[in-house]
Amino acid sequence: MPNFTEDTICALATALGGAVAVLRLSGPKSRAIANCLWHGRKLLSKSDPRKLQLGVLSDLQGTVIDASCLAVYMPGPNSYTGEDVVELQLHGGALSAKLALEAVMSAGARHADAGEFTRRAFLNGKMDLTQAEAVSELVSAESRSAVALANKQLSGALGNAINGFYDELSFLLSEIESHLDFPEEELDWMPLEELAARLAKCHDAIVELAATRKEGEVLRDGVSLVIAGAPNVGKSSLLNRLLGRDRAIVSPIPGTTRDTVEAELSIRGIPVHLVDTAGAHDATDLVEQTGIQRAKDAAKDADVVLWLTDATRPDDSPWPDWPRRGELVQAANKCDLATPPAGMLGISATTGAGIPQLEEALEKAILGKTGGIGGGIAVSARHGILLDQAGTALSECQMLIRAQSWELAAVPVRQAISALGAVTGRSVDPDVLDTIFHRFCIGK
Ligand code: GDP
Repeated sequence: MPNFTEDTICALATALGGAVAVLRLSGPKSRAIANCLWHGRKLLSKSDPRKLQLGVLSDLQGTVIDASCLAVYMPGPNSYTGEDVVELQLHGGALSAKLALEAVMSAGARHADAGEFTRRAFLNGKMDLTQAEAVSELVSAESRSAVALANKQLSGALGNAINGFYDELSFLLSEIESHLDFPEEELDWMPLEELAARLAKCHDAIVELAATRKEGEVLRDGVSLVIAGAPNVGKSSLLNRLLGRDRAIVSPIPGTTRDTVEAELSIRGIPVHLVDTAGAHDATDLVEQTGIQRAKDAAKDADVVLWLTDATRPDDSPWPDWPRRGELVQAANKCDLATPPAGMLGISATTGAGIPQLEEALEKAILGKTGGIGGGIAVSARHGILLDQAGTALSECQMLIRAQSWELAAVPVRQAISALGAVTGRSVDPDVLDTIFHRFCIGK
């Protein structure tokens, strides 16, 4: 496994002040630095690899920093970065962790940049770029589905799919190029129909994968949901029911929620920014009027608007057709007191009846007609742009193949291959790597 770097990097992998601090070292000098500062029964480099050992951590002058410090040595290439890695587990105090960091730096390590451990793992071929990106996504994931998505990508599912297209297109390119190189000879060429069909299959699968971007954005970044409806239909009660706690004030006096109340929650694993708005009716009170205008504004920008009505007053307050860019979901509340109008989803914020069905309807509205992520893969915006480029290039190529313009047809296939290579990092600009890894935290 090649080492692209000569220097040894270090960083605290844990936040300062926790119960345990983990200090990471990676690079050719990790072993020597650990042998200088950490003293156990044996030298760390002579101990069993990948096994925690107990010892004493001191600075170069021999002053003890932690009298019982666990250490583990993971020789490259079988380590996270592919280099020699040492991890020290100290008692967590902020000062002792800082002293330990200073000690390893004075012994010859350099402080790591953000994401540098993972960047080295990528450069040393331990993971492809989609897996490195998944590490960062796993760290910042705020919902179960974002965690599941990140883990799927970390396991290599996206990289494998892309590599499949990459290999197939490389094979088809060699086929196209053989027409160029030996135009006069009667070679055993793939029939034109088969070549066209295989290109079309690749194109369609790439376009399909690019379309998972919407789900990816939703699951990673979340969506905004606005609950609106006439006063007293039970908007605040529903917000509290969805949250499972009393965030909004509930009262039988119409117009209690005069402004908007906002909360973060997760609906079926999707992170949702929820806004409970003031009751929409023809208010004369100035504060309420302002509140209604805010509700209207919030509904306009929301990804999903939930219009709530009261099942006991079925003819009151139909959806007022406010301008909106998102999906509309309607439900009739208080169905513990009355049957909801035909065709309308009935719920009860008080008893919880119909809430799972409401969550299902909201999930459908959020994810659109695709209805969830197939195979657990959903690409990011960066991947989506590159896959779009590959898809466009391949549709162009299909026309040229039919016209048997081999020379011209080879160009878009190469473009598609290069775009796919940029997704997994086989071919990627150093500037793009900087952008990706600078989003990481120090120590990752
Ligand atoms: P908002 O003005 O739309 O936010 O309505 P609130 O959540 O403040 O509720 C208005 C009143 O309706 C309160 O007295 C609630 O207890 C009551 N309420 C809300 N949801 C239900 C429900 O599902 N069933 C019944 N029976 N009462 C409800």
